[in-house]
Amino acid sequence: MSEAETKRRTRRLSDSPADRRTAAALLRAGELVAIPTETVYGLAANALDERAVERIFSAKGRPQDNPLIVHIASQEDWAPLVRSIPAEAACLAEACWPGPLTMILRRSALVPERVSAGLNTVAVRLPAHPTARALIQESGCPLAAPSANRSGSPSPTDANRVLEDMDGRIAAVVDGGPCQVGVESTVLDLTGVEAGGRPRLLRPGGVTAARLESLIGSVEIDPAVTGRLREGERAASPGMKYKHYAPAAHVILVRGTAEGYIAFVNKQAGPQDAALCFEEDCDSLRTAFITYGRRDDPESQAHGLFDALRRLDEQRVRTAYAACPSVEGVGLAVYNRLLRAAGFETVDVQ
Ligand code: AMP
Ligand code: MG
Repeated sequence: MSEAETKRRTRRLSDSPADRRTAAALLRAGELVAIPTETVYGLAANALDERAVERIFSAKGRPQDNPLIVHIASQEDWAPLVRSIPAEAACLAEACWPGPLTMILRRSALVPERVSAGLNTVAVRLPAHPTARALIQESGCPLAAPSANRSGSPSPTDANRVLEDMDGRIAAVVDGGPCQVGVESTVLDLTGVEAGGRPRLLRPGGVTAARLESLIGSVEIDPAVTGRLREGERAASPGMKYKHYAPAAHVILVRGTAEGYIAFVNKQAGPQDAALCFEEDCDSLRTAFITYGRRDDPESQAHGLFDALRRLDEQRVRTAYAACPSVEGVGLAVYNRLLRAAGFETVDVQ
């Protein structure tokens, strides 16, 4: 292997103290390092270094107008990044951080414009994964970290999936094992609350809407969470307007009862097609299948979804008929991701 090729390869690091020091040094030097979090793997760079942030956009092929989430290691690191912290935001930080909740507030001058893709706001999260927190602490800077996939693909939930997309494009990946939650954080916009507006849920995730409402009262759900934006409509969260989380396979989301789903798939699926179903469905299906959790267990669905989407392509599935999850609790996040993986193509069965 030539020297240039050796240099381009991505290092796989463990979460040992020695490897963490190496990863932190790379981050301080402006390099990209994929890190484990409890949601999905993040593609991290020093959030205060504009050139490092620029590299994230090119490594991912991320659209220039899609802002990044800034990750911090303790609550004290939040205040310098934002103009002010309203009472509702402080309450949520106390109750939900560390954890899968991202809050959007007005951006301070410390945060480069590039991080927020030109918006005057910034999204901040304090992750629960101990390795993520240790890396932020050791690198000494907040880390901008979108999901560590090529833009548009399903997010990676283990280090091997990161390397499938990013090998040779980033300096290192820190292997912290599989992610616990499996879907990205809940994104809540609080920029309007000081002027009397309601907090707005832009992306459902591991912290449910019900939990947010139990803490701060009524929360508005952005229409883009469950629907498709109309031509010319402005996206409150730019990441929600793209076809997203999508495998190469053609995904169709099938809504209806378990019996209706099974009958529909058994009738429709051809030899190159597969069911993307719940574990309970397997025995009744006469087609190939890939499971993503149990029917009445949204946490298990969130945990398995992105890996299942990637397995569709490994098995060269042409059309995948996906069983529709319930939208209760974390199920809303699973539904939101599947709807985008399907490019909003749905079928209703009895
Ligand atoms: P990712 O980090 O790839 O999981 O994506 C981050 C998500 O948060 C995307 O949907 C972004 O559009 C959204 N986001 C990040 N920062 C902001 C912001 N300042 N305003 C609105 N949405 C944001
Ligand atoms: Mg992403």
